[in-house]
Amino acid sequence: MCFNVAIDGPSGAGKSVIALKIADKYNLLHINSGAMYRVIALKVLKTNTDKDDENAIINIIQSTKITLLPKQVVYMDGEDVTQAIRHEEISKLSSYISKHKMVRKLLVEQQKEMVRSKNCIMEGRDITTVVIPDAEIKIYLTASVDVRAKRRYLDLVNRNMQADLDVIKLDIINRDTQDMNRTESPLVQAPDAHVVDSSYLSIDETVEEISKYIDDFKVRNRKDDCYD
Ligand code: C5P
Repeated sequence: MCFNVAIDGPSGAGKSVIALKIADKYNLLHINSGAMYRVIALKVLKTNTDKDDENAIINIIQSTKITLLPKQVVYMDGEDVTQAIRHEEISKLSSYISKHKMVRKLLVEQQKEMVRSKNCIMEGRDITTVVIPDAEIKIYLTASVDVRAKRRYLDLVNRNMQADLDVIKLDIINRDTQDMNRTESPLVQAPDAHVVDSSYLSIDETVEEISKYIDDFKVRNRKDDCYD
């Protein structure tokens, strides 16, 4: 029997950092579904494909091999695109193309296949609602826009990269608006998800809070075989 943790939440809420730590702690496979949308966006950009041409993007999905490796390393058709998919342009484009119904359908199919028979933690925007709606633990991880913008700003500054807090905040608001208001699988809080607001929590405190839900589930269900 498998044990799945599903985490959804807006951009910059810290899903990846937290999911990686939970994965380590409970020996779960970590899957970042957003990386898949980013790879497709990168290919759309590289091939000069019209971002509104859904059929062309479907062709790209069907002919692209996405490989997600440990430590967030990502390959596209055998090429390491770990850094390339993190550019701001790709963040925006991935959010744009993820509104297409068939784009979502094809990537969700791949994601469902990836979690089959595995103990895993998957993060994204529709994991608790569409990809693993029957996950044992569902988390909606959020933080205020100001806190998310500041974290992103400090992250860039610490890496000696150019950063403008106002621009970052605006980008986050735009991406939230796009992800929360699209017709197909918008980002919503699943009714049975635990809402964790990390605005005033450190990384360790956030991990601790989510761990409480996992440990509580473990005690109640004695599913030790899955993640010990
Ligand atoms: O999580 P990340 O910010 O890397 O995702 C990039 C974009 O991909 C998001 O802004 C969102 O539009 C899209 N996405 C999605 N569904 C997911 C994961 C990501 O629509 N499960």
